[in-house]
Amino acid sequence: MKVLIHNARIVSGLEPEHTGWLLTSGADIDRMGRGSVPPEVLAEATETVDAAGRLLLPGAIDVHVHFREPGLTHKASIASESRAALAGGVTSWIEMPNTRPATVSRDLLEAKEEIAARTAAGNYAFMIGATADNLRELQLTDYSRVAAVKVFMGSSTGNMLLDGDDPLRAVFAEQPGRVVVHAEDQGVIDRLTARYSPIPDPENMIWHTRLRPAEACVRATEHAMELAERYGTRLHVAHVTTAAECALFDPDGGDPASRRITAEVSPHHLIHCSDDYARLGSRIKMNPSVKSAADRDALRRALADGRLSVIATDHAPHTLAEKQGDVFTAMSGAPMVQFSLPAMLDMFGPEMAVSRMCKAPARLFGIESRGVLAPGYRADMVLVEHLDEPYTVTDADVLSPCGWTPMTGRQLHHRVVRAWVNGGTGPEALRFRI
Ligand SMILES: [Zn+2]
Repeated sequence: MKVLIHNARIVSGLEPEHTGWLLTSGADIDRMGRGSVPPEVLAEATETVDAAGRLLLPGAIDVHVHFREPGLTHKASIASESRAALAGGVTSWIEMPNTRPATVSRDLLEAKEEIAARTAAGNYAFMIGATADNLRELQLTDYSRVAAVKVFMGSSTGNMLLDGDDPLRAVFAEQPGRVVVHAEDQGVIDRLTARYSPIPDPENMIWHTRLRPAEACVRATEHAMELAERYGTRLHVAHVTTAAECALFDPDGGDPASRRITAEVSPHHLIHCSDDYARLGSRIKMNPSVKSAADRDALRRALADGRLSVIATDHAPHTLAEKQGDVFTAMSGAPMVQFSLPAMLDMFGPEMAVSRMCKAPARLFGIESRGVLAPGYRADMVLVEHLDEPYTVTDADVLSPCGWTPMTGRQLHHRVVRAWVNGGTGPEALRFRI
């Protein structure tokens, strides 16, 4: 199988945008060129796609998704969410351990990998969760196949809350994997919850940000960074939400593979802020909470100047019924994986989107032969059209079984037309190599 895509606006992640062609060979990119296609290349192709001025990008790599399987398949599954991801141009993803049971041992990792091998679309890897008593498992985990240890410093997620000093220190000091933290300080949240109770109008979702404010995030992120400095841990801070945290990271825009401490931001927090609760209510209730408009704007600047290395969705579907209720009962989390690439293309343009959603995630997690378009790399590719007349996202567009999105009502100019995974458009799944 040799697919030729020509007349494309190629944004490879290595060179500035240019018009050109790309030829695959099986699962790999064989050759690329500028301008029109040489006759001998045309003769080799078994399928020819005229891109007609559409963007050809590397497949997006989403390093933070919750696909809910095993155990929570009334919300979502690896099969359903990986297909929604592919429809949105996400060809590889790293999935989080707060499933049921939580992925906190090598056996449970293997069980999840088996489900993915049977049912996933796209390429995948998983994280293992840290608990107060699984240090031995973390030490014995093979980090050439497991992306990282996920540490929940604040939100009580199953048995994975690690807010005691000793277990947290041990994870940073005594296991060899990369640590990814959800950084919110439980002490701050508990203190504020006690101070404000009883809340007079708990159906007003603004309380979610009042009870989980910037202070909780900044304190936990500072603590994680101190531990990483002290023990030389490779640290990645998930879903940064505040201007104050952005100020903690170095601007450099350099290769995230050479940085010991990195940070990520989610499209939710780049798009929405606490002013949007009035319109979207619990649809934008998530952890960490959305913050002020000033915080949101600081995140956009920090992404541009390289303080934040990657965009990852924190895709976290719940049923609409689970999103009903007040600030204490409506579940936190929202789906995003189907709309992240179009939304970020709209907001930042193709060069920045490719840098932060394709190239940097591959470099940061050491994912081999993916993240840019270049001969010898895997043929994970997305064809995207830019529409002068925008379309409006509706819940009916959502492929995930949850059937809703916080993007509903939003207008987008970019639309994914087609995606290839390992050279094919079928659901060819591979655990990628780290
Ligand atoms: Zn998450």
